[in-house]
Amino acid sequence: MYTEYIDIRTDRKNALEKAKRLILSGEVVAVPTETVYGLAANAFDEKAVAKIFVAKGRPQDNPLIVHISELSQLDGLVEEIPEKVKIMAEKFWPGPLTMIMKKSGKIPSAVSGGLDTVAIRMPKSEYARDIISFCSVPLAAPSANLSGSPSPTRAKYVMEDMNGRIPLIIDGGECEIGVESTVISFVGEKPRLLRPGGVTLEQIESVIGKIDVDNAVLNKLEQGQKAASPGMKYKHYAPKADITVVKGSLEGFCDFVKDKNCFVLCFDGEEKNFKNALSYGKIDDGQSQAKRIFDSLRELDEMGAKTVYARCPDLKGMGLAVYNRLIRSAGFNIIEVGK
Ligand code: AMP
Ligand code: MG
Repeated sequence: MYTEYIDIRTDRKNALEKAKRLILSGEVVAVPTETVYGLAANAFDEKAVAKIFVAKGRPQDNPLIVHISELSQLDGLVEEIPEKVKIMAEKFWPGPLTMIMKKSGKIPSAVSGGLDTVAIRMPKSEYARDIISFCSVPLAAPSANLSGSPSPTRAKYVMEDMNGRIPLIIDGGECEIGVESTVISFVGEKPRLLRPGGVTLEQIESVIGKIDVDNAVLNKLEQGQKAASPGMKYKHYAPKADITVVKGSLEGFCDFVKDKNCFVLCFDGEEKNFKNALSYGKIDDGQSQAKRIFDSLRELDEMGAKTVYARCPDLKGMGLAVYNRLIRSAGFNIIEVGK
């Protein structure tokens, strides 16, 4: 399949028209959002949704997020809208927040991975919203990477993974946030954080009070353990290189890697301590790390890195989302130095 590429920043009308024509005829189109690029299809079209799973090589039981461009679209998609969802929508939509509710009969089971719930988000990116409004249907869209690879934050990385697999990639430039949305379930008694992301736990709790944090956010699921968020049980975000996350001080880290033939993933300004180093943001700024983390994982592969030791982010604010992605990219290979 030939994969066409259109830059929506310079060729807007063409981008919107081609995206609409393809999506409404049951095809899959890569679109920019403020979090990462998404692989979008008409959420009501079961056959189109099936093509997303094929293009990504995604396991069928890993559900997709349904993207809307206005609140009125939510009504038909869910059984009921919990009060807390209304409060959260008011505060954080449009934005990097996904909320899980009981699904309505209109959501095909391919979208929900066979669950009776559905994940919904209203993206903030004007390009994503324009594409959804122009198509007049909600779009089911996971991240636009091959399953298991780091999520793409630039169209060139979508092209790397999806060339020949989908008919169209819309370029909207670099994603503003760089990690995926925060996923919260509002189905059980208490809201539960299933995946940290662009809206921080602190921001959420300042609006609706304490919520539960799913065990899979910070820990590896043991064999046979059920995942509240099916995506959490799969190998994820992994570059070709072998990554190890190293907790502890910079001093301890330097000591640990000094005789090793390796690459180092570090914070801005620390590069001078190492032979082969790449920085993924400022040490005290989770937002800057989020913006760089997936790119830097792909850049390490471009640099030919085989063994990588990564400095561990602080878990505060956006750091929690960065840590969640980094430990998965490392296959939960985590060590501590300098104790
Ligand atoms: P991605 O599409 O790559 O951003 O991943 C979406 C994430 O949301 C995955 O971890 C999914 O498992 C999770 N997800 C989507 N829908 C649901 C749902 N109905 N219940 C629980 N988790 C969900
Ligand atoms: Mg993904």
